[in-house]
Amino acid sequence: LFCKIANREIPATIVYEDDQLLAFEDVNPQAPFHALIIPRRHISTLNDIQERDAALVGGLITRAAQIAKDQGHAQDGYRTVFNCNRGAGQTVFHIHLHLLAGRSMNWPPG
Ligand code: AMP
Repeated sequence: LFCKIANREIPATIVYEDDQLLAFEDVNPQAPFHALIIPRRHISTLNDIQERDAALVGGLITRAAQIAKDQGHAQDGYRTVFNCNRGAGQTVFHIHLHLLAGRSMNWPPG
């Protein structure tokens, strides 16, 4: 599914893209601002990342922080989440970093 978004076969509201990464708005937002940051390369779950993917995964986090700043959420705060496998709520099996902002967040998460 997210490979199709990366290839522009399925529409999405893209907030950032480069040759490695893509960020787009979540279709079912759980906060006033909710974006997903994905690598273009297909990796199913966080269990599948290798040492060689460290820069790519780091790039997802760096980009999330930059988008949060650009959207004006850096000061109030925001949450980033990777869900890994069904027990954690993963429903799309292409790794994605959730970026949620614009409201206060609870801890622990549900
Ligand atoms: P997860 O449950 O962590 O796997 O997150 C998957 C997320 O993808 C959910 O928040 C969905 O709302 C979102 N989602 C599913 N399909 C689309 C889509 N076509 N465009 C944007 N977001 C989507």
